[in-house]
Amino acid sequence: MFIDAPKRPQRSATILVILASLWLSLAGNLTLWKNLHALPELSGWEGLGFTVAFAWMITCIVTAILSLFAWRLTLKPMITLLLIITGFATHYMWMYGIVLNTSMVINVLQTDVREASDQLSWRLLLTVMGLAGLPAIWLWRQPMAELPWGKQILNNLGLCALSLALAFGTLQLIFQDFASLMRNHTQIRHQINPLNSVNAFLQLTVISSDKKDGPLQPIGEDATLSNTISHTQKPPLLILVLGETARSQNFSLNGYARNTNPLLAKEQLTSFTQVASCGTSTAESVPCMFSHLGRQDFSKRSHEYENVLDVLQRAGYAVLWIDNQSGCKGQCDRIPTTNTASLKIPEHCEGGECRDIVMLARIDTELAKLPPERRARGTVVVMHQMGSHGPAYFKRTSPEFKKFKPECTDTSLAQCDREEIINAYDNTLVLTDFFLSRVIGWLKAQENSHTPAMLYVSDHGESLGEKNIYLHGLPYRVAPPEQTIVPMITWLSPGFEKLSRVSTKCLQNQRDKALSHDNLFHSVLGLMAVKTSVYQRELDVFAACEGR
Ligand SMILES: [Zn+2]
Repeated sequence: MFIDAPKRPQRSATILVILASLWLSLAGNLTLWKNLHALPELSGWEGLGFTVAFAWMITCIVTAILSLFAWRLTLKPMITLLLIITGFATHYMWMYGIVLNTSMVINVLQTDVREASDQLSWRLLLTVMGLAGLPAIWLWRQPMAELPWGKQILNNLGLCALSLALAFGTLQLIFQDFASLMRNHTQIRHQINPLNSVNAFLQLTVISSDKKDGPLQPIGEDATLSNTISHTQKPPLLILVLGETARSQNFSLNGYARNTNPLLAKEQLTSFTQVASCGTSTAESVPCMFSHLGRQDFSKRSHEYENVLDVLQRAGYAVLWIDNQSGCKGQCDRIPTTNTASLKIPEHCEGGECRDIVMLARIDTELAKLPPERRARGTVVVMHQMGSHGPAYFKRTSPEFKKFKPECTDTSLAQCDREEIINAYDNTLVLTDFFLSRVIGWLKAQENSHTPAMLYVSDHGESLGEKNIYLHGLPYRVAPPEQTIVPMITWLSPGFEKLSRVSTKCLQNQRDKALSHDNLFHSVLGLMAVKTSVYQRELDVFAACEGR
């Protein structure tokens, strides 16, 4: 007669998934907890509550991912893989303050054995052993209970759905703080183990990369100026103001109830009301706006191409980019550029940031540096605004522009009433109204020697709490119109109307037409009378008003 040896208790797949998720999310994110703890906006009990909710969300998402692998043959290997990746990631993030994004994964994959062995250390071994080795040994010693196929499928899908629902529910509760945090500290998303590795892996394999290989493709190599430009005594002068985070619906020119455009309302201009942006963030919109491809083709492009500024320059114009923001996203790489954002001019700058008006204070000096033979043909200046950049809208305006009060003065929007957030945002538009009217004023002062015009268009809009959504950057397909419908304003001097044969009256009749950033490339070339095969007349907003 034999007595059975005592058996280890069998663990269900669900229990293993939950235990592994807790370990990966809590112990595997030591660096993240350390970094979050160091943030001033997350100090105190509220910060602690937020961090707990954040940890809970990570646990739920990891549970959802692992539940899809909760099969006898796949669960233990999958958990082990995530443990090892998390162990290594924690070491490097803790020691070197790196984040784990796609390019870092590419670096790791391209590291050869000799370089890798240089980096091996006792500390690394201890971290990986503690975070990954010991839990993995424990894991592999657990017998896993087996369920019939059908029941296991239901179990796994149920667990996945439940944990996603819990994660989503928690996100709703902390959304404002969460959005502010992600916006102010964009690197945090790359510090969340093991989701950063999973994301980077997906980016490298399933989701195609946005960075295109190969040489830059020239466009508009046949670009020339039309005869009307070559024979004019007063060369055209266009200021293209690239707005920031301005949304169409908050412009009183477009029907907003509050007077956010007191100065522009006095000018003879056209404000287009239905212009769709190309993206919902600066990095996504700006390169697309200046491209000839349009939104659909831009996202599918296989090469990087030159942009409208290259074509204008090739046609013979003097082109200048003045940046009062975080840079031109590669759009000014081949043209003269100046950055005003970090200037220290007392009347225009404070706290390491300059008001947009500083660009006008610099323009004469910067224009004088451009080649005179080009300026004799005409000039295009891009002014890249700081505009309504959030979430600290209140920082954008000086006291005299704070028309709507009280303002939200907390970078964490969640600390404010919605009214205060909208007040602070609308004040940034009042400042943009002032800036644009000063641009028009400066252009008018050039009428003796030039034929001036202005075109203003914002890069994307902003959510201000509609449906509890704030800021911008949602995937385009699901983004609300607050984020994608942007203001676009043209001002043509009488001389420019004559030169281009485009009348403001005709444009005003078309102001409610559905337009988009796709029109920008061709409209600028059309307005500046550049002849090239890459120009498409049907996308030129001004073409329909030519000669009318
Ligand atoms: Zn932007």
